[in-house]
Amino acid sequence: MSKVEKSKRKQLSEIVSVVKLSSLLFVGIIVCKYIFTDGRIAPNSAVAYYTIMSIILPIFVLVLIYFMWTFSSKSKMKNKYGNLISNIETVAFIIIFTVVIFVCGAYESEYKFLYLFIIITTTIESGMKKGVIVSFISSIIILAMDLIMVPGDINVYFENDLILAGIFVLTAWPLGFYVKIESEHIKQLEDQVNIDGLTGVYNHRYFHDELRKKIMQGKMDHKPVSMIFIDIDYFKHYNDLYGHQKGDTILREMATVIKENVDLDNIVARYGGEEFAIILPNTREDIAMRIAENLRAKIESTYFEGEENQPNGKITASFGISVFPDKAKDDMDLIKSADDALYRAKFFNKNRVEAYTSILDDIKQNISDEKDIELVASIKTLISVINAKDRYTYGHVERVVIYSRLLADQLKLSEKEKATLIYGAYMHDIGKINIAKDILVKKMKLTNDEWGELKQHPNNGVEIIKPVESLKDVIPLIQFHHERFDGKGYPHNLKGEDIPYLARVLTVVDSFDAMTSNRPYNKRKTYEEGVEELRKCSGAQFDPDIVEAFIKVITSKTGQICIGKIEAGSEAAVDSISTLTYDEYNLKL
Ligand code: GH3
Ligand code: MG
Ligand code: MG
Repeated sequence: MSKVEKSKRKQLSEIVSVVKLSSLLFVGIIVCKYIFTDGRIAPNSAVAYYTIMSIILPIFVLVLIYFMWTFSSKSKMKNKYGNLISNIETVAFIIIFTVVIFVCGAYESEYKFLYLFIIITTTIESGMKKGVIVSFISSIIILAMDLIMVPGDINVYFENDLILAGIFVLTAWPLGFYVKIESEHIKQLEDQVNIDGLTGVYNHRYFHDELRKKIMQGKMDHKPVSMIFIDIDYFKHYNDLYGHQKGDTILREMATVIKENVDLDNIVARYGGEEFAIILPNTREDIAMRIAENLRAKIESTYFEGEENQPNGKITASFGISVFPDKAKDDMDLIKSADDALYRAKFFNKNRVEAYTSILDDIKQNISDEKDIELVASIKTLISVINAKDRYTYGHVERVVIYSRLLADQLKLSEKEKATLIYGAYMHDIGKINIAKDILVKKMKLTNDEWGELKQHPNNGVEIIKPVESLKDVIPLIQFHHERFDGKGYPHNLKGEDIPYLARVLTVVDSFDAMTSNRPYNKRKTYEEGVEELRKCSGAQFDPDIVEAFIKVITSKTGQICIGKIEAGSEAAVDSISTLTYDEYNLKL
């Protein structure tokens, strides 16, 4: 139920409760009036006293109980048992009114109108159908009284009550109709508020509301909730080529393809400009991967006007997937991790589906100390802050991790050393968190002071991870990844084998990626030029044995395949890369 509908229902339920409460008081007054008029009971007698007590007290208690119930637990109980409670309440009111009418003269009673209270309140609360049913039941009761109890042949009561029955039904029917129309109208307005005007799928606001609800539901039912993020590839290029109007047409068509290829209970929304998001309740990650892959292939094979002039000859999209609760602890975490996965898909060639993975999550699984788990979680947050500050670092870290994996195998490192190298590769730039964004993304050459600040990042990084006992082996990699084999590096000017072995390994990998990535300041080297540069600096900046091993890796078949992927990724990142980093500075030394 929507917020507007909920608030409307809450207000209606309050007013309806007041009406029902008042009707009970009316019942009390009617009974008293009936008893004390026409000399049935003398007002000052002892009989009168006991009668008042036996009638007024129960009614008073009844009203009190109903009052408390209405304003305390009714809404909660209604949520839980829904219709049942409201049906019981309606039946109870019909019974009370019937008893009162029966006591106060039955077919002769002047109080048959009492049923109108329950007819009106039921219709307002539960709609036309239930209102009409209650009006029929009330009509049958009063007509039955007339038929069964009226003596003689001529039944004027029945004739009169036929009119009353007509009034009952004619009250419920149009009132119910009005309630129905109004609800539909609210729904239509809400749909307009929730739907994205351009594409016809849900909008960003609705997406957030629904995600929160689905996560809560998932938590309660112990069911996973998956999330797919979709971003159209090279869309700026398409807009630049054909204009925004044509671009909008693609967005509309894309939304249609997405909607047509997911289940009805999945929520498709336009998350941003040319980004879509799908919430998949009760869906595991592997199923979400299958759905996304199917969608990716559908988009790739669909013809979009003018797509032949796109950089890859087609309109395609990249997909990022994450799942609650396995990979995200709440709704915001789910969005962030799916977005992270999407960036990974962008870096690896686009037109691709990627699930969220985090090396730090792997680390967490191998840690038993609760305190360390918390610290690793905060390191993860720090890394995402750096990613948000500087998208280059994100791609860089991803690539350095991939190179490190390959090189670790070539160097025949033990499993423990390999893990340390990969963790080091992942965290080596964590000290950048303290560096101002202006410096990280500065297009102009950095001043001496700014370089001084940038050069502090190995020390800063060490300070960050030092408290985590389980990461103590990673410290030397962070501390010394900018040292040079000839002793001219920073921050400690260590030389040759004084520099820990894994730090020397990381230096080669880190520098190679720095040379061969796109920077606006310095034209990126080709991979061949990168290999040349490594050879040239072998023995001066780099450990010669490690350089040879790395060149072997990078020129091997696996290395070439890996570079093929990475190359496309770094080209894609060209817009977001806007700094001459300390790596290049270091390379020039
Ligand atoms: P990538 O492959 O890395 O996704 O590159 P991209 O060019 O698609 O870049 P990005 O995802 O950053 O897309 C942003 C572009 O999307 C900018 C703008 O041209 C386009 N865009 C955003 N919103 C709209 C919109 O409402 N209508 C149109 N026609 N274009 C939009
Ligand atoms: Mg985008
Ligand atoms: Mg895009």
